Amino acid sequence: MKITDIRATTVAVPLEAPLLHSNGAHWGRFVRTIVEVEADNGLVGLGELGGGGQSAERAVTALTGYLRGHDPFELENLRFKIANPTASLYNNRTQLLAAIEFACIDLIGQHLGVPAHDLLGGRVRDSVPFASYLFYRYASGAHAEVRTPGQLVEHARALKERHGFTVHKLKGGVFPPDYELECYRALAVAFPQDRLRYDPNAVLSLDEGVRFGRAIEDLNNDYLEDPVWGLEGLRQVRERVAMPLATNTVVVNFEQLAANVLRRSVDVVLLDTTFWGGIRPCVKAAGVCETFQIGVAVHSSGELGVQLATMLHLGAVLPNLTYAADAHYHQLADDVIEGGPLPYRDGRIAVPSGPGLGVRLDRGKLAAYAELYRELGDYPYDRDPGREGWYPTVPNQRWADPDVPLDALS
Ligand SMILES: [Mg+2]
Repeated sequence: MKITDIRATTVAVPLEAPLLHSNGAHWGRFVRTIVEVEADNGLVGLGELGGGGQSAERAVTALTGYLRGHDPFELENLRFKIANPTASLYNNRTQLLAAIEFACIDLIGQHLGVPAHDLLGGRVRDSVPFASYLFYRYASGAHAEVRTPGQLVEHARALKERHGFTVHKLKGGVFPPDYELECYRALAVAFPQDRLRYDPNAVLSLDEGVRFGRAIEDLNNDYLEDPVWGLEGLRQVRERVAMPLATNTVVVNFEQLAANVLRRSVDVVLLDTTFWGGIRPCVKAAGVCETFQIGVAVHSSGELGVQLATMLHLGAVLPNLTYAADAHYHQLADDVIEGGPLPYRDGRIAVPSGPGLGVRLDRGKLAAYAELYRELGDYPYDRDPGREGWYPTVPNQRWADPDVPLDALS
């Protein structure tokens, strides 16, 4: 089997509502680039990456010259062909490599008639548990704002009823820490049997990170995720707070993982199939974590169904996945895969069992959301459409005002 061509299509898929985070917002849609790698046997492998829009399309298709004639089975050579570690100091191709790796694994699986997880060690579970991933949200259409502790609890309750979540993750770093603490504790009161996690995307100061951590030590926490920036900051919080610390920001490659093994800053590494350069690097990293008794979870970078499939196959094969995975997925209004969005049951999503990634594109949806992207274009992820001129510092003190309603954006 040889690669003959690479296509990339950028789509904008609507979210239920604009989602706030510490750096700004997802402005009511996810912009993702769907990658199709064609082989000489007629098979098409799927990949996906986020952000970048048309520039991501160009970056992906620019690899065609490197990859035409490449055998998709040669996954290790693929790494060196387009992103060897010294060249990648200058070309930043890790995310591109990931999308191509997904597609190659999809091709191999289709060629052999086996699901991706069978190529990755075989599944140890048939479905992957997910956290509810709660955001402060602007009002939109039928969806009310999510701003106050009461609204947050109602939002979590609705998601729990609909999807069966028993783990709740609050994406914070938006409002002043004391206010977010009140929100987080409201979740704990409302769902005393469920587990919780808080992630302010590293914008708290060291003192605030420690203060927040200590103020939730009595709750049913999985972990405190990136309360502050940097391995050194996290290490200092970890020494002063009695709960596991997690990161998806500063252990995203093997050098950083080695640093965290030698001098522990976090207890849990959130593996992201894109940031680590593919599914296989995540499996390798999970093996290192298993050896050194570091926990692993699955990170969400804002996925459509193709990327979600990579997260499911990863989650299927990790014996040491003892935490629910994260996914923005339930915040989406639709998807580009055949059959519509993959359903949650009892807080879990079944691991696809078809050949390769086990998901295929709905051509009508792909075309419609490519058209929506042409219409709406990109959005600045690191800006909040409701706060003109605002941007955060790290550590941040420029918080949103919790007394200002998150009305629908015009
Ligand atoms: Mg995070």
